[in-house]
Formats: sequence, structure tokens, C-alpha cells
Amino acid sequence: MTGAVLEPARTNLLDLDRKAMEAFFAGLGHKAFHGRNVLKWIHKHGVTDFGAMSDVPKALRAQLAEIAEVRVPSIAFEQPSLDGTRKWVLELDDGQRIETVYIPDGDRSTLCISSQVGCALDCSFCSTARQGFSRNLTVGEIVGQVWVAWRELERPLTNVVLMGMGEPLANFDAVVSATDLIQDDLAYGLSKYRVTLSTSGLVPALRRLREVSDVSLAVSLHAPDNALRDVLVPINRKYPLEELLPACADYVRDDRRRKVTFEYVMLDGVNDSDAHAKALIRLLEGVPAKMNLIPFNPFPGSTYRASAPERIEAFRQRLMRSGLISITRKTRGGDIDAACGQLVGRVRDRRRPRGGLDVVFATRSGSSHAA
Ligand code: SAH
Repeated sequence: MTGAVLEPARTNLLDLDRKAMEAFFAGLGHKAFHGRNVLKWIHKHGVTDFGAMSDVPKALRAQLAEIAEVRVPSIAFEQPSLDGTRKWVLELDDGQRIETVYIPDGDRSTLCISSQVGCALDCSFCSTARQGFSRNLTVGEIVGQVWVAWRELERPLTNVVLMGMGEPLANFDAVVSATDLIQDDLAYGLSKYRVTLSTSGLVPALRRLREVSDVSLAVSLHAPDNALRDVLVPINRKYPLEELLPACADYVRDDRRRKVTFEYVMLDGVNDSDAHAKALIRLLEGVPAKMNLIPFNPFPGSTYRASAPERIEAFRQRLMRSGLISITRKTRGGDIDAACGQLVGRVRDRRRPRGGLDVVFATRSGSSHAA
């Protein structure tokens, strides 16, 4: 017996946005439109088998079967919530797991996707931070979350938000390609108003983003001054508010109708007083802004407490009176740990047998605080 024959790795076509797909086909000596057709098959029709791509010439299909593949993340398991939210735990090729959450709300159906396995940013109120950073997701792993949900759901997605695990701007190129695909008419065709990237505020990357993308922007603000934001969102020490806010204003500069959404997690006794609201109003003067107040979602081991609903409403009213459009985000999927900041795909512990993770999930105390 000879040793195993090493096959060259096949190109995963899920990793290719339209430009990359066209270049891939050009590199094979084929017309770019074949690439566009394949893109449609994969994303619009959910086809992964080249043999079924009927408008692609037979010889080309055979060639693709040799050198390429469409490899999608597999569903490790799915958890439905009582409120209609669904959480998928997806397993990647290397055994890492990530979470994707579907949130239906009236006419809207929103998918919340992850951009990294874990996160390096260490925000003190976020459970993803606890697991540390493992690696960036590939384009195929990011857009693959949409691919999977699109197949699983009975109705089309209307919105995609990059608000799952990870810091999207720390995985810049892959996130831009993936959001391009999500917006591409040949793939998912969502408009720029329906694809939202949420960032903790990596200022240089944010400035670069507006050169290459037009996704909607959400920024995790959480505090009206540097001293407090340094504690809650430690990346603030590197990119303080006086750098972050001008970058936010610039992001929407060319479109008068656009605003930046500022996320603000309401932490009891920490950032939720009238004085904080007043400081926030002053801070955001001159920035086209709307506020998204997020009730804090506790997780095992978290040290913060959620602000009382009356406090959140008083805070919101205070902002509204100053002309700052503010909404309180409904907490969804809290019963399955699918709410904001509760996603812990967990880096696979290689010392444990496969399946050990399910035990971890099953035994986590799911605090019930769905709205
Ligand atoms: N890294 C990106 C995306 C992260 S999650 C970012 O920082 O924006 C999306 C939102 O959920 C962020 O605003 C984040 O601060 C918030 N969040 C994190 N943990 C939370 C928790 N326990 N309760 C409520 N919101 C939380």
C-alpha cells in the first residue's frame, strides 16, 4: 500500500464574491458569465451539485467537479425559541462552532450572523468575549450562514445584521466580500438599508469601509464619555470618542437620509442615569444618529444587572425630547441564549470527545428574559 494520495485542495466557490467568481472562471479560460450563472445557482437556488447547474456547459461542469466544490457549514443543532427566534449552531470544517440567529418580527425577518470564532475585544458585558478569540471566518463561512438560513426558513430574509459573534471590522476583507454577496442581485439581493454591520469602533477600518462598501452602520457606543467607555468597550482606549464620532459622521456624509445607529446596552447604575442621557445628547450633536437601547442580557458569570424597564423608558424619553430618535430593542430569544451578547459558539475543546460541547450547551442556565 502506498501512502494517501494528497489531492490539491478544491476551491470552495462559496468563498467567492462576484468579482472573484468572474476572475476564477477567467483564470480557467472561460467566459465570466458562466461564473455569474454559477453564483446564481449557488446562492439563489441553493444548488451545490455542479451536475444540476443546467445552463453551464457539460464539460465545464465536469471540470468544476474536479477542482472546485460548494462547501457549506453544517448544522450541529438548532434551537427554536418560544418567541419564534431560532438559533443555529453551525460546525465549521475544523470543528469550531459559531452561532447564527433568526429573528422574525412582523414583516421583517432578520438574520444575525457571526464574523469570527470568538472575539478579541473583551467588552466587559459580552459573553462572546469570555471565550477569547480563535480565528476569523472565511467569506464562505460568513455568507454560508445566510445560505443555510435561506434554505431552512419558510420565508425570505429581509434583513441581515452582523451582530453575532466577533468584530466584523477586524475581519475586514472577508466581511466586505460576504456583505457584497448578500447585497448582490445574483445572490441574496438585499439593499444597503437592509444589511447592517455593527462595530465596536475600529476607526481606521471604519474609514476604509466607506471607500469599499455601503452597508448600514451600527456602532456599539454604550457610554457617553471616554472614562466609562474605556471600561465597557476597551478598544476605546485606542480609538477614543473624539476619533470615533467624526468617522461615524463621515460614514453617512454623502447621504442625507442615512443615520448611524448607536447601540447602547442599558446597565443598571452604570450608564443609565439622566446625567448619562444628557451627556449622550451633547456627545451626538452634529452626528446623524439614532439610538438603539439594548436591555442588558445577563449570562452565567456576568457581573452587570439590567436596568429596570421604567429606567430604560425614562432614558429613552429624555433622548427623544432632545430630538434624538431612540428605540428600545426587544429582547428576543433570551430563553435559548440567543439574545444580544449571549452567543458563545465555544471553541472546541480538543481534550474532550466530540459531542462534549452539546453538554456545555445543555447545561448552561438559560435565564428566561425574553420580552
Ligand atoms: N463586535 C460588534 C458586534 C457585536 S454584538 C460590536 O461590538 O458592535 C452586537 C451588539 O450586542 C453590540 O452592540 C454589543 O455591544 C451588544 N451586546 C454584547 N453583549 C451584550 C449583552 N450581554 N446584552 C446586551 N447587548 C449586548
